[in-house]
Amino acid sequence: MSLNEKSMVVLKGIIAARLAVLREEIGAGTARARDESYGALTGGVVDRGDEASADLIADIGNAEVTRDARELRALEAALERIAKGEYGECADCEQQISYERLKVEPGAPRCIACQRMAEQRSGQPNEPRL
Ligand SMILES: [Zn+2]
Repeated sequence: MSLNEKSMVVLKGIIAARLAVLREEIGAGTARARDESYGALTGGVVDRGDEASADLIADIGNAEVTRDARELRALEAALERIAKGEYGECADCEQQISYERLKVEPGAPRCIACQRMAEQRSGQPNEPRL
């Protein structure tokens, strides 16, 4: 099953809406963390772009913002794939990722089967390692 034009319009709308929410959340989280942690750590001088700020937040360990920043990057990568006409193709097996999966996780780079395997390879971040 490949994505038809109507599905693409729906998915692009989901991605655009989600990006707007994430950018707002990351902006708020960055400002908060900057005030709370980074300012205290460095004396308060921060003069970097938004991208650097997202990395900075990852260092600080604000889990919520880190998750948002990761999702934001995934969605931006999805937009690039749309532009190249590669969107919805699994990065590993090159099969079509299902429309249902993309509606829930529009930044998904892999089909469910490959995603599970990738998570097993890299270790589950949310589960204890022992
Ligand atoms: Zn796959």
